[in-house]
Amino acid sequence: MSVLSTCPFYRILQCAVLILTASQHMSESASSWTYLGNGGQENWKEVFPDCGGTAQSPINIQTANVSYDESLPPIQPIGYSNPGTDYFTLRNNGHTVVLSLSSSMHLRGLPYNFTAAQLHLHWGSTSLPIGSEHRIDGEFYPAEMHIVHYNSEKYTDINDAKNMPDGLAVLGIFLEAMPSSAADNPAYGKFFKYLENVSYAGQTVAIPAFSVHSLLPDHLDQYFQYKGSLTTPPCHQSVTWTVFHEKVQISASQLDKLQTVIYSSRSVDVPVLLQNNVREPQPLNQRTVYSSFHVAHAESFSKGQIFAIALGTILGLVAILGIVFFVVRTYSKKNRMDVEGKTSEAATKPPSGPAEQVEVKSFQA
Ligand SMILES: [Zn+2]
Repeated sequence: MSVLSTCPFYRILQCAVLILTASQHMSESASSWTYLGNGGQENWKEVFPDCGGTAQSPINIQTANVSYDESLPPIQPIGYSNPGTDYFTLRNNGHTVVLSLSSSMHLRGLPYNFTAAQLHLHWGSTSLPIGSEHRIDGEFYPAEMHIVHYNSEKYTDINDAKNMPDGLAVLGIFLEAMPSSAADNPAYGKFFKYLENVSYAGQTVAIPAFSVHSLLPDHLDQYFQYKGSLTTPPCHQSVTWTVFHEKVQISASQLDKLQTVIYSSRSVDVPVLLQNNVREPQPLNQRTVYSSFHVAHAESFSKGQIFAIALGTILGLVAILGIVFFVVRTYSKKNRMDVEGKTSEAATKPPSGPAEQVEVKSFQA
């Protein structure tokens, strides 16, 4: 028994520390969530009621049901190309990697002026590259980037705005992998090269500011828009979603890096790779998805539909070839039989020439 443990004052202090530690742990447990397991997405609504709401994100965008709105203007990023000489902070928060953005970056083309706050990513795994949260006609992509903005016309900061119906605007960008031999996407390389610096939860690194505009697709006039929510707890239904139609390509090695170097665990814990940080598509319910462009449905077939169409076409061609072969074979067989029949008939019949000649001769006589 140590001298200290016999001291009443020390015991009181020790109890106070234990109580504080326990309450802090309880509050961490109450706010912790995961994608799978006990704290998984099926149970988010038990702790975060908004996650059980009727206007949740992400969704599967069914292009046959979207409503074309010709009044939707192109999205205009202001200050995205010139973020100044500030540093961005890249952070692993245990659920994703978050890049803080400059407040000099704004969006036009939405009902209010929205100021950029941060961007982050969602991705799958090397064995299951279902990394996008939104889907288009059931089609998913290897990763999706979200650039989060708050309504700076009505609210003072993102905390003030995050629970308001018109509080947030998020841009959704699908990321695709190019063939393995293709070079890296240099714009994404500007922050992907720092991913190893934030491998573990809680780690941060300052990186030189760069053009966030270069992370965007070229066609900012073609997008889907709908009212939804944060795709992670607390799932506030405060987001005007703008999901771009055009995908952005990164290299296969950049995608592989995203899938393999980030951990949801802290550096002192047993390492747990952060993969599949993707929420399942949520019911659309009574909401309308608008499009800023005429959607070409021919381009929106899923891989399964394309496979079914290709298979049906091949089977159809095989069937037509089979019928043609059968008809040709039957016709040539019939011809052959006719020829053979005539030949055998000619062989058994007495020659008609002389008889006719006899008959003619007799007539003449
Ligand atoms: Zn997100």
